[in-house]
Amino acid sequence: PARWGLIGASTIAREWMVGAIRAAGGEIVSVMSASADRARAFADANGIGTATDSLPALLGSGIDAVYISTTNELHKAQHLAAVAAGKHVLCEKPLALTLTDAQDMVAAAEAAGVVMGTNHHLRNAGTHRAMRQAIAEGRIGTPLSARVKHAVFLPPHLQGWRITNPAAGGGVILDITVHDADTLRFVLGEDPVSATACARQAGIAGAGSQDPALADEVMGILRFPSGVMAQFHDAFTTRFAGTGFEVYGTEGSLIGVDCMTQRPVGQVLLRTAEGETELPVETDNLYVRAVTAFHAAVRGEGPIETRGAASGADGVKSLAVALAVAEAAASGQTRSIRYAV
Ligand code: NDP
Repeated sequence: PARWGLIGASTIAREWMVGAIRAAGGEIVSVMSASADRARAFADANGIGTATDSLPALLGSGIDAVYISTTNELHKAQHLAAVAAGKHVLCEKPLALTLTDAQDMVAAAEAAGVVMGTNHHLRNAGTHRAMRQAIAEGRIGTPLSARVKHAVFLPPHLQGWRITNPAAGGGVILDITVHDADTLRFVLGEDPVSATACARQAGIAGAGSQDPALADEVMGILRFPSGVMAQFHDAFTTRFAGTGFEVYGTEGSLIGVDCMTQRPVGQVLLRTAEGETELPVETDNLYVRAVTAFHAAVRGEGPIETRGAASGADGVKSLAVALAVAEAAASGQTRSIRYAV
């Protein structure tokens, strides 16, 4: 089994990834935090043998791979150090705060010959996989437009850096729109070319700051090479909206219900001239699926994206889209999406 080190004593590691790595057959050897006490407490609470506040110590603890889930401004340096030590890296989204930094991360992993994944869980959901397949099979004809409903409520235990700290990559666009971007690319099978958006602080983010990086609500439109327009609505402030992902085509529509979530839930309805049917949807754990794909890539069984999980390059693209959305919202102008610097 792959031997893992955790970089970051985070909520996502505690709530999802410790369990997912183990369920996928991995062993968690050590955890690193900026605070030795936090590292020890996390290790004790999660049955991990070694705790450290030293990145070199973590990288020297006999591990094959690291999972990086620190705040976003820290990912790049930690990734580069791990790659330089020959470790495979599964990194949280957004990979970094700038496109150049994210590109550098991918280039370093390629040069070192290690596997790199981006933890975009949603493309691992049975709902999104079913929609991607239905579109590829032509079941809705030619896609015309899409809608992403991803306006949720940031739970109190996560109301920290996301709503206060632009330097850590806070704000709803880098947190949630980045997931929409990856999911749209995955389901539609093409990369958006431009972004239009409006963002605001609707009551949770910013503490009086007007920094658009700290928006807690954003709406916008992404345009795709085929002409498809995708509308998205993301928020930290919205308690009772429910989530959804819908694609409308010339011959039918796909209606994904409650599918923008960490849990393996949700429904996909196919509406055509024949009426409405519910598509069968697999309910395996999204994160376990992602780690399983990562493990297969580490074993040399082909690139991670061939098993449906997000690669480093996918993380660069989702960041490129999110940055264009942020620029569009800040400027009030439509922005082309640049995928390379
Ligand atoms: P957390 O706020 O839980 O953790 C981020 C960092 O905060 C930790 O690495 C930790 O630093 C630090 N921290 C935790 N507790 C304290 C404390 N009491 N005092 C000071 N610092 C503290 O973040 P999340 O788990 O929500 O997010 C982490 C990363 O994962 C982000 O990149 C985020 O975008 C991503 N994420 C991805 C999700 C997905 O589904 N793909 C879902 C949620 C988050 P240290 O390690 O030094 O202890």
